[in-house]
Amino acid sequence: MDAQFLAELLYPNIKTLPQDIEARYPARNLPEGAKVTRFAPSPTGFLHIGNLYGAFTDERLAHNSGGVFYLRIEDTDAKRTVPNGIQIIIETLAKLGVNFDEGAVIDGDKGDYGPYRQSERAEIYQTFAKQLIREGKAYPCFCTEEELTAIREKQETEKLNPGYYGEFAIWRDAPIEKIQEKLQEGVPFVLRFKSDGNLNNKHKFRDEIKGEIDVTENDIDHVILKSDGIPTYHFAHAVDDHLMGTTHVIRDESWLSTLPFHIQLFKALGFKMPKYCHTAQVLKLDNGNKRKISKRKDPEAALTYYHSQGYPVSAVREYLLTILNSNFEEWRLANPEAAIEDFKFTTKKMSVSGSLFDLDKLNDISKNVISRMSAEEVYEYTLTWAKENDVDFAKILEADRDYAVSILSIGRGGKKPRKDLALWSEVKGYMSFFYDDLFEAVDAIPESFSAEDVKAICNDFAASYDETVEQNDWFANIKAIAEKNGFCPDMKQYKANPEAFKGSVADVSMFLRIAVTGRMNSPDLYEVMKILGKERVLARVLK
Ligand code: GLU
Repeated sequence: MDAQFLAELLYPNIKTLPQDIEARYPARNLPEGAKVTRFAPSPTGFLHIGNLYGAFTDERLAHNSGGVFYLRIEDTDAKRTVPNGIQIIIETLAKLGVNFDEGAVIDGDKGDYGPYRQSERAEIYQTFAKQLIREGKAYPCFCTEEELTAIREKQETEKLNPGYYGEFAIWRDAPIEKIQEKLQEGVPFVLRFKSDGNLNNKHKFRDEIKGEIDVTENDIDHVILKSDGIPTYHFAHAVDDHLMGTTHVIRDESWLSTLPFHIQLFKALGFKMPKYCHTAQVLKLDNGNKRKISKRKDPEAALTYYHSQGYPVSAVREYLLTILNSNFEEWRLANPEAAIEDFKFTTKKMSVSGSLFDLDKLNDISKNVISRMSAEEVYEYTLTWAKENDVDFAKILEADRDYAVSILSIGRGGKKPRKDLALWSEVKGYMSFFYDDLFEAVDAIPESFSAEDVKAICNDFAASYDETVEQNDWFANIKAIAEKNGFCPDMKQYKANPEAFKGSVADVSMFLRIAVTGRMNSPDLYEVMKILGKERVLARVLK
């Protein structure tokens, strides 16, 4: 059959040739060793933690090497596309510090290697597809759904490999007359790749993460263009990553099964293959068993979770690096103050089998990160978070900035800063007792103490509170009040003979703490009182 004739018959409107397209995509002018990576999501409106894992790997590899990181939108499946999907992708990732140098932007493209939306590249794919037909490497298939189902069922009953191959590839060698007949009848067709692979042939393949792996040749004539002329993932992957100059394809390991087909496609198209980095799944521990993080079961699967909970971006980035590169934690210990950009990210230190995602660990990192921030920074981050997630709290924060900052200054800046906060959403609860409107009596004074004693102690404290004195004098006064009311002022003495007292100075402090803060545990009470101001302290103590 004349392949040239067939190509014209199937795609008469495609006048461009591969070389015309190639001319639009010159080689990138980058320094030696610079990596070009891409994040290539479908605009479904949902981003999974696994997407961040991949995108962050892309971003680090590109930016660590002076390369380019770009966004390509894989919107060839209209069913999986939501109207503002691209905006959600760009904004969600930007909030996590992942920014693109090039690619799709909300209202168009930025960069010379576009269009970056696959839906706008039909002519490009069809040009290369037409060339494959000319070379006898692709052919039309007019099978109906029913015929394909019949093939599948026969393969199932006969326990054969599924797919369109060998005797099942009924259109592979169809005579041109038969094809013309179908076209005249207006029967839709898909374009299939004419595989020259053999299942008995195995090759070694080097994956940048998995190392050397065995691949078995593909013998299936997969679809490359659907009946509407839109490519499948496989074909678009080969054409786009070639033209856009991707040097490293970072993608989920679930694509490994179709790698043999991708290898064939690059060869058939005459393209140099990029390097592949197949990332392991992100797992979690569930009742002691490892399983995939699931969009349905785990709220932490969605990237929006980290924004709504208020994780500091730097903590999420820091944590991701600890699960992405096994030597990151060691590096962090040796370089506690360094920017994470200074860490030499490498695919060699990535997990081969699956990365365990652990929220407790993330929370610990987050507490450390926040404990090292200044009160002003904590204020600003919390305010930004609150404006989006808790408008009432944002108003309270804005009403008196200095007051809020002084609250957040408690226990900050020293060698051992307090680590109360892991999330911006926890700040409100942490600060609430400083605001009369938010005050809540969380804990009560244990009933083993007499209400009269408590009252007398509170009254004595109110009568003697001097907010100008140093902490030692302030505490000396509490000791004196303790002694006056039959509570031991000295802990050693109390422990030696507890029966002789109603309680100790620690109990007296606890009464005051609960009266002033509503809780058993609070930051340093002396500091708390100074910030609250005498009027509020007395009002609470005398309540
Ligand atoms: N659109 C594909 C996905 O979302 C991209 C895979 C790739 O990065 O090649 O899974």
